[in-house]
Amino acid sequence: MIDGAAHLTGRVLRISGGMYHVLASDAELECSLRGRVKLGELAVAVGDRVRVERLEDGSCRISEILPRAGTLTRHGVSRRREQVIAANIDQVAAVAAVSSPDPDFIMVDRLLVLAELDGLDGLVVANKADLLEDPEALPDGFDAYADAGYEVLSTSATSGLGLDRLDRRLRGRVTVLSGQSGVGKSSLLNTLMPGLELRVGEIGERKRRGRHTTVAAALYPYGRDGCAPDGFVVDTPGLQYLAPWNVEPAELSHAFPEFRSHLDRCRFKDCRHRKEPECEVRVAIEAGEVSERRHRSYLTLLEESEGGA
Ligand code: GDP
Ligand code: ZN
Repeated sequence: MIDGAAHLTGRVLRISGGMYHVLASDAELECSLRGRVKLGELAVAVGDRVRVERLEDGSCRISEILPRAGTLTRHGVSRRREQVIAANIDQVAAVAAVSSPDPDFIMVDRLLVLAELDGLDGLVVANKADLLEDPEALPDGFDAYADAGYEVLSTSATSGLGLDRLDRRLRGRVTVLSGQSGVGKSSLLNTLMPGLELRVGEIGERKRRGRHTTVAAALYPYGRDGCAPDGFVVDTPGLQYLAPWNVEPAELSHAFPEFRSHLDRCRFKDCRHRKEPECEVRVAIEAGEVSERRHRSYLTLLEESEGGA
C-alpha cells in the first residue's frame, strides 16, 4: 500500500493504446497496470472488475483483478490457452432482423453456440418486427429458438415494440449484443439510451472471417432513458463471424440445447449426428421435434470446428 493512494473498485470498459479505461464511482479513469498485475497469470480483460489505486499525482493503476464469473472466450484458437474476449458476462443477445436484411440464422446459431460453450445465457432479438404484417407473432424461422428454450424478443427500434421487454432483459446484466450488420443494433441502443449517440451502424462492425477475427470488446454502461445506469452492453466486433475452432464434437452438439435429450440415445457413443445409423438426433428431426435448419447449422459448425473453415 502506498501512502496517500486512494483505493477504488471499478470495471474495465475498454482497452486502448495500452491504457485501461475503468469505470469507478461514476468516473472513467485511465489506468496503467501495477507491476504485479502486468506479470500476473491473467491478462486484464474488458469487463474485468478491478481494484484501482489513485496516486496523489492523480495517476491511476490497476492493482488487482477481482475474481471472474461468466467469461466469453475464443475457443481453441490455441489449444493451450483460452483467450478471453470479455470477462463477467451474463448473456449473449443474438440480434437478427425479420427482414431487410433477411435473417442470417447461421449467424444467430453461431452466437448462441459461443454463449453455450461458455455457459452464458443466450437470447434472440428479432428486430424490425414493424415490417411484419403481424408484429406480435413469432416471426418465421424464429420458432426454432423458442422451441430450443431461448427467449425470443420481437422488437422494433422504429415503433418501440418490445423495448420494455428488452429493457427488462438488459437491466442489471452484462450483455453481449451481436448480429449481422444492418439489423438495427445501434438503433435499438440509441432508442433505449438516447445519450449514447452511437452512429447508426457503429456497433459490431469490423468483420473478418474465421479464426483470425479480432474481437476487441468494449463495455457501455446500460441505462434506459431517464433511469440510472444498471448493467452494461458489450460490443464485440467480429464475434458473429467467429468459428468454434477445435471444439470437441460432443461439446458442440451439447451447445444445441434441443439436441441434449437425444444425444445419449444414439447407437454410437461417438455419433456426430451426420449420417450415422440409428442417430436419435436425426430421428428427432424426422419427428419434427428438432429443427432441420438448426441441425444444418450444427453440421456447418462441426465442419468448421474440425478445421474445414
Ligand atoms: P446495426 O448495423 O445493426 O447497428 O444496424 P443500424 O442500427 O445501423 O440499422 C440499420 C438500418 O436499419 C438503419 O437504416 C435503421 O434506420 C434501420 N432500422 C433499425 N431498426 C429498425 C427497425 O426496428 N425497423 C425498421 N423498419 N428499420 C430499422
Ligand atoms: Zn447421433
